Amino acid sequence: MQEAEVRKNILNFTPGELGDIVTGLGEQKFRAAQVFGWLSKGAASYDEMTNVPKSLREKLEAEYSIGLPEAVRTQEAKDGTVKCLFRFMDGTEVESVFMKYEYGNSICISSQSGCRMGCTFCASTMEGLDRSLTGGEMLGQVLAMRKLTGSDIGHVVIMGMGEPFDNYEEVSRFIRLIHESKGYGLGLRNITVSTCGIIPKIRAFAADFPQVNLAVSLHAPNQEIRQMSMPVAKKYSYDDLLEACREYTEITGRRITFEYAVIDGFNDSAACAEELAGRLKGWLTHVNLIPLNEVEGRSYKTANGNSVKRFKDILEKNGVAVTVRRTLGKDIDAACGQLRRRHAG
Ligand code: SF4
Repeated sequence: MQEAEVRKNILNFTPGELGDIVTGLGEQKFRAAQVFGWLSKGAASYDEMTNVPKSLREKLEAEYSIGLPEAVRTQEAKDGTVKCLFRFMDGTEVESVFMKYEYGNSICISSQSGCRMGCTFCASTMEGLDRSLTGGEMLGQVLAMRKLTGSDIGHVVIMGMGEPFDNYEEVSRFIRLIHESKGYGLGLRNITVSTCGIIPKIRAFAADFPQVNLAVSLHAPNQEIRQMSMPVAKKYSYDDLLEACREYTEITGRRITFEYAVIDGFNDSAACAEELAGRLKGWLTHVNLIPLNEVEGRSYKTANGNSVKRFKDILEKNGVAVTVRRTLGKDIDAACGQLRRRHAG
């Protein structure tokens, strides 16, 4: 049993909310910016906040925890990818992955522990949803990973465990927290949110965060194939999803990324590629072909290199922008949700 934590996590609060907290404790409002600045630097205790009066530090300590997660398991791949199983105070565990790219360091964070979306190729959903994370807990993953790796992180992708749009309010809070100029100050264009296709939230996101990148897990060229592996497709049809995505590009003027995990004998044929190209030709999209990370207990196999190349060539021939995602962390449990399952098992 984990120790029950009754204090609130101070990482969840914006500078404005911290201002109310600080004044409520009888201190001056400007102290809130100091506290927020320390938290964004990754301070793990109030004692580190040397320019904050001791009286305020003690009052905060009594009521608010600094909810940085603890790294309970870490795997490092030869290419520098670091995968970490983080545990929060209540025992909830999630995975985050640090990756090195030519353009800089990136982290993929989780928005929920587990997931209730039920995609059949995914390890994160095998035990359903444990709980959603708060915005502060998402921020905590970035801060803890930065400390763990000793590296700056300039890009954040919300594509780990969970469906971000099943936790829209807290994902929104996270984006505001990490973008806050008094804190981490991450540019909105350096943030990507990946959804399995919850249409009403795609529309809300276009209005709320037009500068944040959106990726949609498509994984199929049509409704029939999509609904075989993604139950969400039964609620939101393929046609409606593409229409919402097209609207998104028109409203935001931004390219949308479609994630496509290439699965052997399932969605990797030339006919699938032709059909997808026909759907996407002529609009602001980018297709990211992902060699599937095979998951224990699932029968899907990753497509071989030849069919991935054929798929890419057909999209290109039709003028659809496409890349094949570099496979990072091959020698570790890179498929999301696997580290948590192994650790539990
Ligand atoms: S792929 Fe994403 S949305 Fe689907 S079950 Fe896994 S974590 Fe959930």
